[in-house]
Amino acid sequence: KMPVPSDIEISQSCVPKPIDQVAKEVGLFPDEVELYGQTKAKVQLSVLNRLKNQPDGKYVVVTGITPTPLGEGKSTTTVGLVQALGAHLHQNVFACVRQPSQGPTFGIKGGAAGGGYCQVVPMEEFNLHLTGDIHAITAANNLVAAAIDARIFHELTQSDQALYNRLVPSVNGVRKFSDIQIRRLQKLGINKTDPMALTKEEVNSFVRLDIDPGTITWQRVLDTNDRFLRKITIGQSPTEKGFTRTAQFDITVSSEIMAVLALADALDDMKKRFGRMVVASSKKGQPVTADDLGVTGALAVLMKDAVKPNLMQTLEGTPVFVHAGPFANIAHGNSSVLADKIALKLVGKDGFVVTEAGFGADIGMEKFFNIKCRYSGLRPHVVVLVATVRALKMHGGGPAVTAGVPLPKEYTEENLQLVAKGCSNLNKQIQNAQMFGVPVVVAVNAFKTDTKAELALVVQHAKEAGAFDAVECTHWAEGGKGALALARAVQRASQAPSNFRFLYNVELPVVDKIRLIAQQVYGARDIELLPEAQEKVALYTKQGFGNLPICMAKTHLSLSHDPEQKGAPTDFVLPIRDIRASVGAGFLYPLVGTMSTMPGLPTRPCFYDIDLDPVSGGVNGLF
Ligand code: ADP
Repeated sequence: KMPVPSDIEISQSCVPKPIDQVAKEVGLFPDEVELYGQTKAKVQLSVLNRLKNQPDGKYVVVTGITPTPLGEGKSTTTVGLVQALGAHLHQNVFACVRQPSQGPTFGIKGGAAGGGYCQVVPMEEFNLHLTGDIHAITAANNLVAAAIDARIFHELTQSDQALYNRLVPSVNGVRKFSDIQIRRLQKLGINKTDPMALTKEEVNSFVRLDIDPGTITWQRVLDTNDRFLRKITIGQSPTEKGFTRTAQFDITVSSEIMAVLALADALDDMKKRFGRMVVASSKKGQPVTADDLGVTGALAVLMKDAVKPNLMQTLEGTPVFVHAGPFANIAHGNSSVLADKIALKLVGKDGFVVTEAGFGADIGMEKFFNIKCRYSGLRPHVVVLVATVRALKMHGGGPAVTAGVPLPKEYTEENLQLVAKGCSNLNKQIQNAQMFGVPVVVAVNAFKTDTKAELALVVQHAKEAGAFDAVECTHWAEGGKGALALARAVQRASQAPSNFRFLYNVELPVVDKIRLIAQQVYGARDIELLPEAQEKVALYTKQGFGNLPICMAKTHLSLSHDPEQKGAPTDFVLPIRDIRASVGAGFLYPLVGTMSTMPGLPTRPCFYDIDLDPVSGGVNGLF
């Protein structure tokens, strides 16, 4: 067999169809499609209205065993499955995937378009700016950040009346509240529309958000791995009159704006979620929102194009939506509700939409069900759980691996014992999917060093653990035809009864919801709330956010909180260090350990290999 060329060589050897042709093939009208060059297009949300009476297709979510540094291949399998279903079995299909962050593309991880003969193409477009959605998020996020500090500054340096004169200026002798100011007045319980009718006290509460700088949870963002921005001091110019404070930059994809983009199901819903985003508390302990800052409409304007899903295609010409890419720890790690909804309408009753959830099934899939499906109202039909022999060996006690050093022989030679032992993780993740009442198909993603006996052992274990089916796949090396068995298994599973249910009722107390996830999904004996977390439970419950779903910010490298604990640990107590709120996106996120929200660059970042060919203008070295 020929060796498989590099991802970018495969991607560049494919001549993609003009994207307007792909759009036509999936049944979009020309006026619903906005072309961004030859290979990318945005799809207007109006298509949802046009197809509102069309029944939805089958909804398939791809997840995995607990990730290891050896890679599992969820994205690759997502693409392989749609290539098999669409290009080989001639079903209507759509893949819905996340847009990768540019930070890691130039840093440590490389691209995320899949791999081998299963990729979204052109991979350089996919991995770089795409259509600018992440840049729009950066702009929107930073407008909120600028609004917060400017507002604090103005409030500290001006009297009530001076603030009022500027916030409600007199134009040709007439003062008028804007819509967003009327919303703020209503929130304050002031039902007046005449700016001249406010009492002194009402003027005071209207003009002063009175933000407590120590409670600001909104950070500036940048889509670059820039570790030196993890902690900064802002306001050092003399024009800010000494109002300095410590702040930080996060990576753009960790912004709540991204989480909102991924969960909104209409333009109006996105706007409402933006308005509800809480950025700080006032000195009296009241939540201060984006609406209070007056910035909601401007955010919607900045995001008006980003809200439309991006159409691309796979190496075998099947359609893909690339849309949103929220963090999978402090956010829910799933692509957008809107892309899934549009895709489900476009494929129709007998078609398939395959969407991907980040990290392992304990995180990405749990959040897919309990957060994304709860908000979207969509009901999944099948879970595809990706496993690899190599990763299971690590779960069975195989040695650690080091980047840049050849793999230890445990991973390159047959070792049935390690595989069998590591299946404890596969077993638990299968149970996790079954807990939600959805049939599970295990996809064993074959690497060239896997032996027949090893692959067969994983299949056998998966079936014994109660999977609907389990199959070997060779799509990475062979494209869609290597995932035909998987595609057929998914077709059969989609006919099986799905008794989908949520794990918890959102009305349960915050602590009970966290405990349910920890015990049922992770296998913990109990949880332990550290003092900061206890305070936040009290604060959020008081502020009225106690009924939000829970988005656990836990390491993805173990079912427990300790990344070193492989397999399926039991009898551990999960520590909850702190709890934060993304009120606009609509979840509380308990922090299990420290989560970095700004990656750094390694000694030899990916950018060493990335170059532009001055003759062809082509991109080299992305992988
Ligand atoms: P995930 O989505 O789980 O993070 P990806 O699908 O992005 O994983 O795959 C991670 C890396 O592993 C990619 O570089 C991909 O090309 C590679 N890969 C995936 N499956 C295989 C395979 N069967 N053989 C060799 N490499 C693979």
